[in-house]
Amino acid sequence: MPSKILRSRIVLPLVAPPIENGAVLIKDDTIIEVAPFSSISRNEDQDLIDLGESILLPGLINCHCHLDYTKMAGMIPPLKHFSDWIKAIIAIKASWSYTEFADSWISGARMLERSGVTSVVDIEAVPELLPEVWPATPLRLWSCLELINVRSKTSPATLVSDALSQVATLESSHPNQCGLSPHALYTTTDELRQEALHRARHDQRVLTTHIAESKEESAMYQSATGPLHDWLAPQGNAAHCGEGSPIAILERTGYLNYPILAAHVNNLDAEDASQLASHHASVAHCPRSHAYFNHPHFDWRSLQKAGVNITLGTDSLASVKTKGNTTPRLDMFAEMTCLATSESAPQPIEILRWATINGAKAIFRSNDLGQLKGGFKADLIAIPFNGPITKASEAVVSFDGEVSFSIINGTMIGSLEQQAHLSSNSP
Ligand SMILES: [Zn+2]
Repeated sequence: MPSKILRSRIVLPLVAPPIENGAVLIKDDTIIEVAPFSSISRNEDQDLIDLGESILLPGLINCHCHLDYTKMAGMIPPLKHFSDWIKAIIAIKASWSYTEFADSWISGARMLERSGVTSVVDIEAVPELLPEVWPATPLRLWSCLELINVRSKTSPATLVSDALSQVATLESSHPNQCGLSPHALYTTTDELRQEALHRARHDQRVLTTHIAESKEESAMYQSATGPLHDWLAPQGNAAHCGEGSPIAILERTGYLNYPILAAHVNNLDAEDASQLASHHASVAHCPRSHAYFNHPHFDWRSLQKAGVNITLGTDSLASVKTKGNTTPRLDMFAEMTCLATSESAPQPIEILRWATINGAKAIFRSNDLGQLKGGFKADLIAIPFNGPITKASEAVVSFDGEVSFSIINGTMIGSLEQQAHLSSNSP
């Protein structure tokens, strides 16, 4: 395959200052060079792709998603209690067929492709879908198998082994990977989380769990009170209630002894941020889901000060508000915009780092994803922009639309390919 030069008026490597009239040289699946167009290595056997008035940047990494719930968009209006939302989604899931989950998953993947995502950590409630849906998208996937065992008689070891053996053949024939996702503290036993951790460590898998998502979860574990407690305790899910913050309990029961990806972490007790940092945990913040549930302010400053790696995710469309008659779409730009316009928001460049460099760290791919740099994988996106270079980060974070160009592992994505202006001449 001939190498490609992608030229864009602005290149945003993120690990280096923005480049005016920049270029990225790609060979096969790898970035060879990132430089001003005037100094990029040229030879005759190259395709020049001129993206014109654009910002070219690393593909976005979505660190928390539920693709199989995509078509639940708008089905659950914001409810007073988090536990009521859980009851509502359980009822929808029980009524859905395999086909509904599969359609939902694939339509969600398309939305991510068009909104600049190139890697996604997806929670798989219906792993039977994976052989059918993985080949349907060019996205890099970390499909984390959801594990719940509060009412299960199966041993945790069997549960985890069965989940992984179900996908063993698929994993051996596809570059995507499966991770493990013990769902939450209130739906899993200590033994199941430990078992998942051992298997994750053994195979170097992503391990992710919903942690300290709601005030109700914190009330349940801090003081054995609140609607979540009152719903779950009579069903026998009362372990650790009244013992401390969810993060303190996970630390005490050994679950932080691995660099986990903690989804949400909307409620922090005094020691929680330093506990997460000292155990090298990452946190996935989902701004629109956060707004939907009206959670307390996401305390990113405390997490960042402690040294926690903060990433961004879309969560599922079952927890994104509908605006007017428009059905919401999975969209990392919308997540970044939501965060950027929230109270005490991080700077745009910081938000972009969460969505790229930090995301790569959370999935143990700091050495080849999330940056535009020689030797890194060729995962890049472009958005149209004709403003000043000093406003480039701001423009990306507030972008509303579909990417004009996207390339994953050196391959241009589907119909987006036609939108790129292919030329063999210098601009
Ligand atoms: Zn989730």
